Amino acid sequence: MARSILVVADMRGDEVRQVTFETVGAARQAASGGKVSVLLAGYGVAAQAERLAASGADEVLTVDHPELAGRRSELLAACVESAVRDTGAQIAMLAHSAVGRDVAPMIAARFAAPQVSDIVALALEQDRLVCRRPVYAGKAFVRVVLEGDFFVVTVRPNNLPKPDAGPFAPAAVRALAVQLPGARLELREVLQKTSSGVDLTEADVVVAGGRGVKSADGFKPLYELAEALGGAVGASRGACDAGYCDYALQIGQTGKVVTPDLYIACGISGAIQHLAGMSNAKVIVAINKDPEAPIFNVADYGIVGDLFEVVPALTAHVKALRQGSAGEIR
Ligand SMILES: Cc1cc2nc3c(=O)[nH]c(=O)nc-3n(C[C@H](O)[C@H](O)[C@H](O)COP(=O)(O)OP(=O)(O)OC[C@H]3O[C@@H](n4cnc5c(N)ncnc54)[C@H](O)[C@@H]3O)c2cc1C
Repeated sequence: MARSILVVADMRGDEVRQVTFETVGAARQAASGGKVSVLLAGYGVAAQAERLAASGADEVLTVDHPELAGRRSELLAACVESAVRDTGAQIAMLAHSAVGRDVAPMIAARFAAPQVSDIVALALEQDRLVCRRPVYAGKAFVRVVLEGDFFVVTVRPNNLPKPDAGPFAPAAVRALAVQLPGARLELREVLQKTSSGVDLTEADVVVAGGRGVKSADGFKPLYELAEALGGAVGASRGACDAGYCDYALQIGQTGKVVTPDLYIACGISGAIQHLAGMSNAKVIVAINKDPEAPIFNVADYGIVGDLFEVVPALTAHVKALRQGSAGEIR
């Protein structure tokens, strides 16, 4: 059965985030030949609309307005509502990001529709759409079958398969006329606190530090390793509570959820609340001086040792690999 799907573009600054392209890829499969539309709402969005037009979607709807520069959820919700009515979409898919989590329930409420949050997979089973989402802080997964007229779904970044790179026939780009409501909330400032501009929730490599890092200065070798690997730095709550780093870096049940290809846990014991945010990483490396630390139970590779010796050695080795002169790590 062909379905019409609306994907709402998720922005980081002026750039469309990778999760949007992942969602378009999944929506193409799920649509079974139906129409995949992408809504891009912001200010000065022409260049990003072109990127989306080459993503495999059938059409890109833009709402370009100065009022949308401030990422106000109420205004974005008005744009999504108009786009759903315009396209007749049966599913609206948003990123499970700060903005997506804010807007998705507004859409669900406006259409009195069910919402399925934080999905990590979407599959077609005998023409039924089935979502997979984690529960109990990632200890189990549930399958949710979408049956009905309209659904709102939020998608966890970095979990759906990497999207087909194309090339695709360019999608039509069309301006959507939306009557923006007067906003009651104003976003004054967005603080981005990730290393080297890499978005923590979308990073392929995360180097995370725990209380074992011992100080803010102790994070320096972790930043150097993350930079050498093109990754981002994260932290346990232990490190955040101790004031070694900002809470924006916290990974876990009450922090961010990450699914990188490689997660390097440095001086992190592996409390269940931390595992909730990272145990789905594809490869986990743990560096801890305590051989009994629970983090080793989930690690694919464990290094028992002092992180202040191991991390700089790894960084030097990565740099040497890049230059083609790597030998054994000592
Ligand atoms: C409701 C609730 C929600 C929570 N949410 C989160 C959350 O979202 N994220 C989160 O992380 N935690 C969360 N916690 C806290 C969690 O229970 C742990 O307290 C926390 O994760 C511990 O952080 P840590 O591993 O950095 O510190 P510790 O448990 O103190 O571990 C430090 C580790 O560093 C090792 N170490 C010390 N020195 C070195 C060295 N030089 N080299 C190598 N290893 C060394 C030690 O052997 C030890 O294993 C939550 C707790 C509660 C109750």
